[in-house]
Amino acid sequence: MKIADKIEILEIPMKIMGTESTIYPTLIWDDNNVILVDAGLPNNLKEIKNAMDKAGVPFEKIDTIIVTHQDIDHIGGINDIVEELNDIKVLAHGDDKPYIQGEKKILRLNNSNFMDRINALPEEERLKILDMFENASVKVDVVLSNGEELAYCGGIIVIHTPGHTPGHICLYHEESKSLIVGDALNIDEEQLIVTNTQALNEKERKIVINWLKKFIELDVENVITYHGGLFNDNSNQKIKELI
Ligand SMILES: [Zn+2]
Repeated sequence: MKIADKIEILEIPMKIMGTESTIYPTLIWDDNNVILVDAGLPNNLKEIKNAMDKAGVPFEKIDTIIVTHQDIDHIGGINDIVEELNDIKVLAHGDDKPYIQGEKKILRLNNSNFMDRINALPEEERLKILDMFENASVKVDVVLSNGEELAYCGGIIVIHTPGHTPGHICLYHEESKSLIVGDALNIDEEQLIVTNTQALNEKERKIVINWLKKFIELDVENVITYHGGLFNDNSNQKIKELI
């Protein structure tokens, strides 16, 4: 789905642990760079290629992958892409880097609810999932930090948004006034929501409010969520209301 000139949301079907859904990686490009924000699961390569074909951007031109955070549906597809293309740079926040690189166990695997769900799967499926986690790690080439402005595609600002994971980041693409929020925000019944607010304690709530306040300093037309797609109904006002 085209958002503005040279920025598209890719619609990628996802199936994991018996649940089917759609995920929405973002593609941003100019004459010098083609950037993919989040890369889906392992074996999503064909769908990513198809979606890029539709957008009219050659897959071979990807030179940068920015990762919003460590979760498998965001990093799992990177190795397939890196295997086919040389000289791809992977960018992520320092607080998620050790998990993405496999030096620390991905946080979901320490979550007992999540592990209960995995352990309840039929044996073959269970081993497949664990194997997928095992093989998802990928080298982070560039560490991003809060407030940094990347000189890609007219400027992309990095906003550190800890909560969903310690090193979760959102990205603001200045030319299209698009805020790519990964899993920090989502859409529920056509409304913009903060992911998992019910589970937040007082301290975490304050952290979330702090980064929401950074969002309202920006002029946001499009909010691109990874699991809900595009939200563009009076976004600045809706973000204020979340606070
Ligand atoms: Zn996710």
